[in-house]
Amino acid sequence: MVYHGRSGREGVIVKVCVLASSSAGNSTFIGTERTRILIDAGLNRKETFARLTAIGEDPGQLDAIFVTHEHSDHISGLGVISRALKGRVPVFMTHLTAPSIEWEGTPPPVETFQAGARTDVGDMSIQSFTIPHDAADPVGFTVTARGFKVSIATDLGYLPDSVKFHLRGSHFILLESNHHPELLKVGPYPWHLKQRILSRKGHLSNEAACEYISTELPDEVQTLVLGHLSEQNNTVWETELGAVQALNKRGLTPRLVVAEPRKQGEAFLL
Ligand SMILES: [Zn+2]
Ligand SMILES: [Zn+2]
Repeated sequence: MVYHGRSGREGVIVKVCVLASSSAGNSTFIGTERTRILIDAGLNRKETFARLTAIGEDPGQLDAIFVTHEHSDHISGLGVISRALKGRVPVFMTHLTAPSIEWEGTPPPVETFQAGARTDVGDMSIQSFTIPHDAADPVGFTVTARGFKVSIATDLGYLPDSVKFHLRGSHFILLESNHHPELLKVGPYPWHLKQRILSRKGHLSNEAACEYISTELPDEVQTLVLGHLSEQNNTVWETELGAVQALNKRGLTPRLVVAEPRKQGEAFLL
């Protein structure tokens, strides 16, 4: 299939859809005419396949699944999805992430890599980079295809310079904006969980996301999706308001989308 831009611009392009982004499940589709991958498989098989079909993609055409880390909101659908695809689709994860997952039933065909390594699948180049998070060996990814760069950076306690370096030159960024610190502090979570989220290996706050947006968001960004919002400790409205102000400060006007927890995002054509 050749994707045609909505603008009428014809030709081969890259399609990106955040199928889900929150602690209830994470999965992002990235496709070109030749290659189709998922980053994470935290939705069940039924939802994953339904959401792919909704954007005109055949789940049977997936070429690979890349896993950021072993937390259940990123892998809970992986085993069943892999079996439904008859074990045909390789699942890529780091050397240290792989042994931290206990599979029920037949495990998927796992291919391991060193965090920081690059993997080529079809016409895509998938670069991993280490992120600060309380998992065995968590990574984010940048996917480069057809001259476009798509970056996935969620589940990180803060944004180290090394991550900002990898995000440079991105045309599409899915960036975590997990919680509003004040809502988290007064919210219902037990103290140890609040500490975990606020730690440097927890989740990125709205403030930290906005600090990055207002100072170092790459000039090239055409679409910025803020995701992995906490359903208890954040609101779409609050996140958007902060991000709009941060973008104004930065002087950039990309398309800004806040991913609603549990809802499928639109398919972006880059
Ligand atoms: Zn997560
Ligand atoms: Zn996580």
